[in-house]
Amino acid sequence: KYNFSAGPAALPDQVLQQAQAELADWQGKGLSIMEMSHRSDEFVSVATAAEQDLRDLMQIPDHYKVLFLQGGATSQFGMIPMNLLGQKTQADYINTGIWSKKAIAEAKRYAQVNVVASTEAENFTRVPRADELNLSAEAAYLHYTSNETIGGLEFDYIPDAGQTPLVVDMSSDILSQPVEVSRFGLIYAGAQKNIGPAGLTVVIVREDLLGQALPTTPTMYDYKVHADADSMHNTPPTFAWYLAGLVFKWLKAQGGVEGIAEINLRKARKLYAAIDASDFYANPIALPNRSIMNVPFTLADTQLESRFLVEAEAAGLLNLQGHRSVGGMRASIYNAVSETAVEALIEFMQHFEKTRA
Ligand code: PLP
Repeated sequence: KYNFSAGPAALPDQVLQQAQAELADWQGKGLSIMEMSHRSDEFVSVATAAEQDLRDLMQIPDHYKVLFLQGGATSQFGMIPMNLLGQKTQADYINTGIWSKKAIAEAKRYAQVNVVASTEAENFTRVPRADELNLSAEAAYLHYTSNETIGGLEFDYIPDAGQTPLVVDMSSDILSQPVEVSRFGLIYAGAQKNIGPAGLTVVIVREDLLGQALPTTPTMYDYKVHADADSMHNTPPTFAWYLAGLVFKWLKAQGGVEGIAEINLRKARKLYAAIDASDFYANPIALPNRSIMNVPFTLADTQLESRFLVEAEAAGLLNLQGHRSVGGMRASIYNAVSETAVEALIEFMQHFEKTRA
């Protein structure tokens, strides 16, 4: 079976098999990694290796901290203004869809939010161009969502905010292709797409941005507390952290981010080409902004949608239903979704069109 879920998403088979083999007895200790103290030598070495592997994969410079937190990307929507506003009261946000809007709504609880560009009037079918960003001099940071998981809309450039720290929600495209970490003040991502199971949130933050949390910030929401404690201020999500470590090792074996990016681009190109080659399927996103991770598409005859899903499932192609807020179909083709899976989907789509059109 092939899993096209948007998240929690497919994990590499090898990772699941290794975790299964290690689950009950960690290296002959007679107990599971899940049952160990997070401060034990065993777990600390798992945690340290995972961080180092992520640093290697993304070439994270030394003056950035990598935090392994809980609360999902949604908690970051609040933690970011609490931690980064400092003495300022304003923050700039780019609006490209549902996840940007959620980040904006939460930030408004703490800051004066300037929506510096939005493509909502165009139904979020493209991202704003660099020359459309109306940045404000008073903003503490500029926030954007590099990949809108629901809309299938991805930035094809990194916005330039000058001296203002750039903050990005990379939940659904982290580790999918190389990025220059030094362009960012802060990168965050819920784990449940390209990193590992749900329950873990990765934050990569430039050290000089730490230590200016609003006085009312709960201890657990203060990045500096977690940075100073190596993400072990309290009990971290140990099993998810361990599994993320296995995914990082798997990714290194795929040739790292560069290696997987080549495969990802090929997968996406093939799928969009199949959609574009037919009048039966459609995707509305401007070509340069089509997501390489989440591919939404519609059927010319919406009456056929439920039959499409039933037959796809029978053919072993799972979780192709679009997000409940937008309908249609969506194939999420994260790192762990193989090229073979994408080819099977394309073959099914072509067969379905021939027999139903
Ligand atoms: N941001 C983006 C781009 C997402 O895709 C998601 C979840 O799918 C979230 C934020 C919310 O993440 P979480 O469920 O980890 O809070």
